Amino acid sequence: MQIHKHDVIIIGAGGAGLMAALYASKGGADVAVVSKLYPTRSHTGTAQGGIGAALGNLDEDKPIYHTYDTVKGGDYLTDQAAAKILAENAVEAVIELEHMGLPFDRTSEKRISQRRFGGHTRNFGEELVRRACHAADRTGHMILQTLYQQCIKNEVNFFDEFQVVDMIVVDGAVAGVVAIELGTGEFHIFHGKASFFASGGWGRCWSVTSNAHSLTGDGAAIALRRGVPLQDMEFFQFHPTGIYRMGILITEGVRGEGGVLINSQGERFMERYAPSAKDLASRDVVSRAIYLETRAGRSIKNRGYVHLDVRPQTVNRYFAEEGRERKDFINGETIERKLPDILDFCRTYLGVDPVLEPMPVQPTAHYAMGGIPTNMDAEVIIDAAGTVMPGAYAAGETACVSVHGANRLGTNSLVDLVVFGRRGGMKAAEYVKGVDWKPLPADAGAEIQAEFERIRNGSGASRPGELRHLMQATMMDNVGVFRTEETLRQGIKDLAELRERFYKDLHIDDKSRVFNTDLMEAWELGCLLDLADVTARTAIERKESRGAHSREDFKKRDDENWLAHSLIYQRGPLSAPEYEAHFDKQVDLSLWEEEVAQGVPEEQQKFRPKERVY
Ligand SMILES: Cc1cc2nc3c(=O)[nH]c(=O)nc-3n(C[C@H](O)[C@H](O)[C@H](O)COP(=O)(O)OP(=O)(O)OC[C@H]3O[C@@H](n4cnc5c(N)ncnc54)[C@H](O)[C@@H]3O)c2cc1C
Repeated sequence: MQIHKHDVIIIGAGGAGLMAALYASKGGADVAVVSKLYPTRSHTGTAQGGIGAALGNLDEDKPIYHTYDTVKGGDYLTDQAAAKILAENAVEAVIELEHMGLPFDRTSEKRISQRRFGGHTRNFGEELVRRACHAADRTGHMILQTLYQQCIKNEVNFFDEFQVVDMIVVDGAVAGVVAIELGTGEFHIFHGKASFFASGGWGRCWSVTSNAHSLTGDGAAIALRRGVPLQDMEFFQFHPTGIYRMGILITEGVRGEGGVLINSQGERFMERYAPSAKDLASRDVVSRAIYLETRAGRSIKNRGYVHLDVRPQTVNRYFAEEGRERKDFINGETIERKLPDILDFCRTYLGVDPVLEPMPVQPTAHYAMGGIPTNMDAEVIIDAAGTVMPGAYAAGETACVSVHGANRLGTNSLVDLVVFGRRGGMKAAEYVKGVDWKPLPADAGAEIQAEFERIRNGSGASRPGELRHLMQATMMDNVGVFRTEETLRQGIKDLAELRERFYKDLHIDDKSRVFNTDLMEAWELGCLLDLADVTARTAIERKESRGAHSREDFKKRDDENWLAHSLIYQRGPLSAPEYEAHFDKQVDLSLWEEEVAQGVPEEQQKFRPKERVY
């Protein structure tokens, strides 16, 4: 096996991985980025709507308002100190991206342009504020290109199309990772003082998803298998507006520009569910509303979708009703300019022109709030007390800091990547200066090689494609937007059967080594099955509704018993694992505690967990 030696090994080349690589290299470390995709193909490149920062370029705004929205949006499961860092560092991070060359859209005064997004408010919920900084509807694409250029300039080493499949743990510390070079099928060891997971999410557990095919949660599954718990896995966000059946995302920016959701009766139904925020209520609320409209027989053609209408005549009619100024009114040209990619998707994939017709949309599995637990410097922690696993780091969607709590606010993921990617990169550079190399164990990589041989040589009757399809269907039906004890039990039972077939009865057609996508997809299915399982198992134990976790049998949020993070551990053999879930990791409520210490009367405390009122 070829062995590569670098101070910091970064797994993943999305926004989080590139930001971490940039800052680790600036800190003097020798950095290698190992990525299964060519870097600029990472999912960050599809982020459309924008990156949130309280620049206040168009409306009055402050980081403390952004912090408040993040905490409230996360249904109070957000760690408050982390949210404060996120909001404060966001401003600097966006300006830094601009200085690196990111071509943001501009206001008429040539400042960075900002648009409305769900849950972004001024003065602690008073009114919607324009906070999302954007480069048309291609913000993520621009971030990725900008950061990649900077990494090249900083001489970061890239190993493109190398897929990490295991982590090497020596005496409780991480000594590197094992990867497969996709072009040859050969195994390589990346020996590092620090290993940094930035490998993205796992929306592919569900059948309707906005996530790219590559989002199979490899990093989180690898960590889980090597003893790291995963945090808050029961919280997975469904974005309300995916293209019907395809799941492709229609950015919330469409509603930010004035688009509205309409049911089969021609009614703007969000006025009933969220009278003040309406179509820009938080994503969990809007997704549930679409399901409830469907159940009440008011979806379009009774097929489970509704219309998203951004036609100028519709938008301007509602703007007029709301008393908006004439200068805010839109026309076809405004939409073409601000949402070019969305128009392109709809025209290409649906044959629908959004300037002339409404778009058919349904909720789509979108974002993992949970993941590898970390502290605010992206160091991986392995228990409720915050014990750090030496040499292990994580940031981005695969990590759980937790700034998103039970439900992520739109545009906060891109902020999370750059803020915590940067903090983690700096911390890792500092760490590697002070530690010695851990020698590699003689058998590093042997176990995972054997597992790949098992998959390659399987002579059963179950094909990965079929198992994946069944997993996605049961996750959609039983571990989706609405959950009950009964659906979750069913989900767990189905997943156990699928796991049995995956380990005892697998068959893949391609036995070769070169670019064997059959083999890699089969291995990725194993990762998805593990993550689906821990999602269902924490979901069944959390007997309350909070944020994206909506239990029909426990409709209320229950702060007395459940205001805590979950940590789930996987033990035993992969083919028949045992799980251990704990709900004892405290939520950081430091901003509320400060208010209490300052003697702020209860009714004026902003950060006290309070019932959600829309
Ligand atoms: C369609 C869409 C639109 C979105 N729009 C917005 C938005 O407007 N604003 C916002 O804030 N958020 C948005 N999000 C969410 C946000 O884009 C993602 O959460 C974020 O980009 C994730 O970044 P990341 O760096 O963590 O991972 P990703 O960008 O997903 O990158 C993952 C990287 O890990 C690598 N990788 C994975 N597994 C392995 C492995 N086993 N070995 C080696 N490499 C591996 C991949 O090659 C890739 O480079 C959107 C998401 C989607 C899907």
